[in-house]
Amino acid sequence: MEYRSTRGGPAVCIEQAIMSGTAPDGGLYVPCTLPALTPEDFAGRESFADIATRFLLPFMSGSSLEAPLPAICAGALDFPVPVRPIESGLAVLELFHGPTAAFKDVGARFLAATMGHILREGRHARAPVTILVATSGDTGGAVAAAFHRRPGLRVVVLFPAGRVSPRQQHQLSCWGDNVLSLAVEGEFDDCQRLVKAAFADPALARAHNLCSANSINVGRLLPQAAYYARTSLEHHRRTGERTSFIIPTGNLGNAFACVWARHVGLPIDRIVLATNANTTVEDFLATGQWLPRPTVATLASAMDVGNPSNMERLRDLCGAGVERVREEVSAVAVSDDAIRATIRDEYRRNGSAFCPHTATALHAYRHLPVVERANRHWVVVATAHPAKFDTIVEPLLGITLEPPAELTRLLALPSHFATIRPELPVLADRLAGWSAHG
Ligand SMILES: *Cc1c(COP(=O)(O)O)cnc(C)c1O
Repeated sequence: MEYRSTRGGPAVCIEQAIMSGTAPDGGLYVPCTLPALTPEDFAGRESFADIATRFLLPFMSGSSLEAPLPAICAGALDFPVPVRPIESGLAVLELFHGPTAAFKDVGARFLAATMGHILREGRHARAPVTILVATSGDTGGAVAAAFHRRPGLRVVVLFPAGRVSPRQQHQLSCWGDNVLSLAVEGEFDDCQRLVKAAFADPALARAHNLCSANSINVGRLLPQAAYYARTSLEHHRRTGERTSFIIPTGNLGNAFACVWARHVGLPIDRIVLATNANTTVEDFLATGQWLPRPTVATLASAMDVGNPSNMERLRDLCGAGVERVREEVSAVAVSDDAIRATIRDEYRRNGSAFCPHTATALHAYRHLPVVERANRHWVVVATAHPAKFDTIVEPLLGITLEPPAELTRLLALPSHFATIRPELPVLADRLAGWSAHG
């Protein structure tokens, strides 16, 4: 299988698409042809890792990742992704049982395993590689956890000082070893600008063999399709029917993986995107105009994205017209007030606490047209554990949330980070000093 940029250019192998993240022309890598699979192709496969392996095999065909794929999936996707029925016609897909209690563990762990393999094989990259990642909260923790103590790979996490939740900050800075945590005096945009400046400096990029692990990397996106495969197959095996998903959406990575799964042939029906007050996607579907906006800060902070990158993949898949995009997905924007009300209402209704991101999808479910809601099997995607956002959820419910065991373990580790000004020479100094000692 070969990969091409959404903006044209020559085709590359999967190893190169994974190691370079973004295409040289600024586009995003997509498979040159999408494979076709049927539910029967998954016969006898039950576990998340087994189903992921079958789904991903054609995407890796002919590459050095094909043979080790079962082992990569078994190692990276070793936590449960349970589907919990809430009421008749509604279930919740819980993607928060990984090491950092958010769905980003799936992509980050698969990416780390594949990069480790590509480095060992030695043809497409040389060690040590430094992964530079800017984070507004969840990505940095998942990437640090996934790459921690992996030979030949180091991680530098940049987060905005004082602008992530206390528990997120701890998850970003409790690693040590091959992980360097830097708090940047500024906002997420300053962190991102610093990362872009580092990649754009050829001497610096070469000196540290800089590599990106951001959410547009095809190695993070592809494994996410596997939980949609597993969830829809399970329902299809039981009932012969398709599953409709409502997906909390920021950069559109999680939701786009679902679109790929449906195109490949999984029994998936409707795909509804739930966003927060950053309404670029809704506005596009309503008007046909793609107008990225400055980001608005909301309670569902991991979805605070004004210019969702993966829309470029969706528009590439659909051709230019907005009508085709409307056939693929619909979208609902959810205000902070509605997020608060949903967290309260759902707790009252069924005794379950949900994170602010998941609450956007539950709100969208409750507001579906009655005919839509009643005639389909709906699964709401839960993207993070509510205890990760305790400072928002606990005061609303008047309860204390028990963090999952893995999160409790991380919170007990000591935390170390340095604070830097958002300037490239300052970052370059830090990198040089760290490399010399590590
Ligand atoms: C990253 C994140 C999202 C948004 O996912 P995208 O792939 O960017 O659309 C939603 N919820 C949580 C908890 C996240 O960490």
